[in-house]
Amino acid sequence: MEFKPKYLIKMVLPLLVLLVSALVYLGYSDYRAIRDSAYSQAQANLNVAKKYLDQNYIAATNQLFLLSAILKGAENIPAFLDAANYVVNNQNKFLEIGLLVDSDYYGTDGFHLSGIDERVKRRPWYSDKQKSGDIFLSDLYHSNSTKKWCVALVSKLTLPGKNDVRIMIEFDAGAMSDDLSGLKTMKNGYVYAIEPKTSRVVIHPDKARLGVDSVSINPELLTQVLAGEGQGSIPSYQYDNQYKFSVYDTHNRFNWVLLSGTNNSEIAANALRIGVVGGALMTVVFIILLAGYLHTRVHQVGGQLIEAQEFDELHEQLSALLNDTMGSSQIYLFVMNTREGVLEEAYHHIRADVPADLLCRIAGCQQLGRFCRPEQDEIVRLIAPSEPCIRLPLVNSARADDSQQAGSRLIGVLYICQPGLAYPFFAKMIANYTLSALNQLLLTQHIRSEDQMTGLKNKNSLRQHMEQKLTDGATGYFLAMIDVDDFKSVNDTYGHLLGDQVILNVASQMKRSFPPQAVLCRYGGEEFAVFMEAPDIEAALKQLNDFRASVAASRIEVHGGVSCAITVSIGFAPLRAGMELTISAADRALYQAKSQGKNQVLSAETRSTGTETAAVPA
Ligand code: GH3
Ligand code: MG
Ligand code: MG
Repeated sequence: MEFKPKYLIKMVLPLLVLLVSALVYLGYSDYRAIRDSAYSQAQANLNVAKKYLDQNYIAATNQLFLLSAILKGAENIPAFLDAANYVVNNQNKFLEIGLLVDSDYYGTDGFHLSGIDERVKRRPWYSDKQKSGDIFLSDLYHSNSTKKWCVALVSKLTLPGKNDVRIMIEFDAGAMSDDLSGLKTMKNGYVYAIEPKTSRVVIHPDKARLGVDSVSINPELLTQVLAGEGQGSIPSYQYDNQYKFSVYDTHNRFNWVLLSGTNNSEIAANALRIGVVGGALMTVVFIILLAGYLHTRVHQVGGQLIEAQEFDELHEQLSALLNDTMGSSQIYLFVMNTREGVLEEAYHHIRADVPADLLCRIAGCQQLGRFCRPEQDEIVRLIAPSEPCIRLPLVNSARADDSQQAGSRLIGVLYICQPGLAYPFFAKMIANYTLSALNQLLLTQHIRSEDQMTGLKNKNSLRQHMEQKLTDGATGYFLAMIDVDDFKSVNDTYGHLLGDQVILNVASQMKRSFPPQAVLCRYGGEEFAVFMEAPDIEAALKQLNDFRASVAASRIEVHGGVSCAITVSIGFAPLRAGMELTISAADRALYQAKSQGKNQVLSAETRSTGTETAAVPA
């Protein structure tokens, strides 16, 4: 089988669809992979943070245990403070260690307060409910002495002779935040923690946020988190005009909600790049489909143009087609009137001379879709003085043996105003369809306006011509009615075939006698009409009388050397306001000519006559 280019062309669209689908799938799977890896990175960060918190918690409880052992063993506050100072100095996470013995407070920062039994109860690390041997974790508070955010771990112990003995270790929330700030999820994600009881931020890489109410995790979300299994993920929430995701975990010794996540846009960004390529290709496919659709539409409607029976119908259909496909606002379809050498636009009733550059040789005339500015084309000046128009000459291409008269092949011109962007794709198609439709219409009109037997115009066509001249306000036109004299007797004497021959003979005499601009018409039966231009009534009379004489002089061969002569009577009248008036005036003059003896020409105006000779059949 031979391979043809069309097979390749047919494959383009399915291939493009396949490519787009593949890219969309790739983009999506990429998105999923990136998202999964972001989630597991966030989860890994949470695990590290959780271990870190637990270890610090355990370290602090160990210190509390050791310090209570020192206190119990030696009952020696200075020894306790020595050990405590050592711990604080060597552990940056511990801000301060304090010892409360009834109404005395001893701190590692060197101060000692006594008589504070009532005041101490208002400190955040003091809990009424704490029992001896228990460990108590305070809420986040701002330390008066260090001016830092901290939480305290407190152990209560029993010492003989003392009522209330507590050892307190303060954790520096800022220092812990610093330690955890290196845990990044993708580029912008970080680990932070919220104290569930107060909804306040307790760990955050931006230390300005410590102690502030959490805005990202609102109270409802927090309730949901705490009501769940202690760990999970929040796929999307809005913070700072960004959509974020977080994984969370509440299983740590501080019972804080640890969170880690990042902006969803970070995940989407990568997948988006592939998506953009997919989108661009999708646009290409769309444009191809659109162009295909428009072409089909132009072909469909264009094919129907040929059915138009009238110029108005053709104009309206063509106008709708161009408006639908190209969005053009206005069209003008000029038809060449070859007899008068002008262009006529039937829909808008415009007559114009053929633009000089259109009466050109073949190549020039077939230049399609030229933009014509008002200053370049008189017709554009007439129809669209302020904007350029597209001009499509409608040219019947010449056969090789045709004469070079290019003007005779130009059958019309289509002007499209404001033709729209899509125009260049359709110009040729539209010109071709308009040309065929116009050819078809002209042919139909020609057939409809002609008398089949003689090839002269028919009565309808004559009336149209007269109407046109009347609307143009033309003067110097005359209508002559011609009737064959005693035709019935020709029929009766020689038969109808010869009668027909006589009719044909009169028709060809008419064609020979009158100038090409005259409208020659078979009015019906053996009656004819001529609608012609003449400088005055005498000139018209002369032309008609010459014709009458040439008919009278001619002979029609019957058979065997026998011939027959016929004559015609003619009545004529100048074109006057009202077509019927003109016809009846000419008719009356004809009647007069008949009654005055036939074979003569009579004017309705002056009743002047041509040569009067009685009709004599030979
Ligand atoms: P007048 O001089 O008054 O005009 O007399 P006429 O005989 O010419 O006029 P009339 O109207 O009495 O006759 C016209 C005849 O023409 C009658 C009709 O049969 C005949 N006719 C009409 N059409 C045709 C045609 O196409 N062919 C033939 N052979 N005869 C036709
Ligand atoms: Mg008659
Ligand atoms: Mg007659």
